[in-house]
Amino acid sequence: MIDCLCCKILKGEIPAAIIYEDERMIAFKDINPQAPLHALIVPKRHIASLNDLVPEDDALVGEMIRRAAAIAGQHGYADRGFRTVFNTNAEAGQTVFHIHLHLLAGRGLSWPPG
Ligand code: 5GP
Ligand code: ZN
Repeated sequence: MIDCLCCKILKGEIPAAIIYEDERMIAFKDINPQAPLHALIVPKRHIASLNDLVPEDDALVGEMIRRAAAIAGQHGYADRGFRTVFNTNAEAGQTVFHIHLHLLAGRGLSWPPG
């Protein structure tokens, strides 16, 4: 995907603070962090939004969630708590159309979200 931020980061065309990588996904720090820990967990395959998931992606998405929990744990937030969010389309505030799981931790996070 030519104009996709995540694909450009995956290709090394845009620098990012990568904190995890395996064959299926990477995780990197958000450039505009909304909490002391704010990482994005991103599949290597371009998937525009959750609306585009197919049953074959179920394991991938499960791994992304489990990876978010592992990263939270590595940063000391397993017990304190953390939030994981996928934004989908305009009203949820999705701006990057390659799915990414936000991992936020390190401060009290209000509910309901804005
Ligand atoms: P969305 O709004 O689509 O749910 O989240 C997109 C996220 O990507 C935002 O939190 C935004 O700060 C982050 N972001 C946008 N551009 C860049 C960039 O160039 N590098 C990194 N690391 N994050 C970015
Ligand atoms: Zn992409």
